[in-house]
Amino acid sequence: NRDVSPYSVKRDAAVEAAVSVPQMAWFGSLVHAPGTLLTGSGGIYKVFTPFFRKWAATDLVPWPEPGDAAVAADPGEPAPEPLAQPAAPVGEEAALDRLGEFADRVGRYDEERDRPDLDTTSRLSIDLKYGTISPRTVAARLTDPAAEPFVRQLAWRDFYAHILHAFPATADHAMRPEYDRVEWLDDPEGLEAWKQGRTGYPIVDAGMRQLAGENWMHNRVRMITASFLIKDLLIDWRVGERHFRDLLLDGDVPQNVGNWQWVAGTGADAAPYFRIFNPVSQSKKFDPHGDYIRRWVPELSALPAELIHAPWEAGPLELAAAGVVLDETYPSPIVDHGMARLRTLDAYKKARGED
Ligand code: FAD
Repeated sequence: NRDVSPYSVKRDAAVEAAVSVPQMAWFGSLVHAPGTLLTGSGGIYKVFTPFFRKWAATDLVPWPEPGDAAVAADPGEPAPEPLAQPAAPVGEEAALDRLGEFADRVGRYDEERDRPDLDTTSRLSIDLKYGTISPRTVAARLTDPAAEPFVRQLAWRDFYAHILHAFPATADHAMRPEYDRVEWLDDPEGLEAWKQGRTGYPIVDAGMRQLAGENWMHNRVRMITASFLIKDLLIDWRVGERHFRDLLLDGDVPQNVGNWQWVAGTGADAAPYFRIFNPVSQSKKFDPHGDYIRRWVPELSALPAELIHAPWEAGPLELAAAGVVLDETYPSPIVDHGMARLRTLDAYKKARGED
């Protein structure tokens, strides 16, 4: 089964060169093989919507028929012990159960997918990453028009794999080269606070603690925490990408790099660099009652919904009533968002040669 990360490509070439039996390789973990969906002029799609149209309209190349194979008598080195245990059962049967259960509520996906408090996305990312379910199986099960917003996400997965396959250097370089010139800050303390979920921004801290605790994070919060590292701390997106990759059970180079570059504004079809998430308004919008924050930042759990997103704005009595002592039980914000926003806009403009 082929993969698109530069490491996998090198590894597979080495195996192909070393093994003398006949070999067949497939991109079994994608719907369409990279390099097979091209624009009218034979180029690579760099914008998602036309890619999606082509993706949906293109017939599937059938998988090969299964054959017989003998398992080697000496299987070689045993697999290493896993570093983290997934919260839910894994394997093909468990993945099919998860799909079946999700299919019953896919109609709610579009409305609820951005709500980490509701947590009703499919949770199929680990299965898709390890191939215990194929995205074709998932798409074939969800053919109702109401499932389209969900199926689009599977196409994003293919999109990022196509991009990395065509532009392998983007694994650690900005897809738009001018952004390799951004002067990132070297801020070990800020980085550590982000990793530990101690930035003083509750939604960011909740996300980073979910990542450390569950080795998974809700997509909306991945966007918020990634944006915070890049745009509020002005730390190089590659540092965050590596940290996510190390911890996420679904950590996958094309998906992780593609999404980090999307948030950084440096990638294919990315958010424009000047669109900077405000962590407080994101928190109010997508965790309106503060329940996701309460789950992961229990020291703030007694704060009411209107205060939990920005505890530094609460009055002394309100904090005391909730048992919160700023800088003792929970940190003050490590950076001022307004200042950080302007600093980042300046750094990006400079990289673009606009200062
Ligand atoms: P659902 O919402 O149920 O989506 C179904 C499937 O669609 C997912 O399992 C996934 O395979 C695919 N999908 C959904 N959103 C995206 C997306 N934005 N990009 C590509 N595919 C998507 N996903 C990974 O699989 N591996 C990663 O390493 C990874 N890193 C990310 C890093 C950042 C900074 C961000 C913002 C997103 C990242 N994602 C990554 C995408 C997304 O967050 C996860 O796929 C999703 O949260 C997994 O949960 P789910 O299976 O419940 O998703």
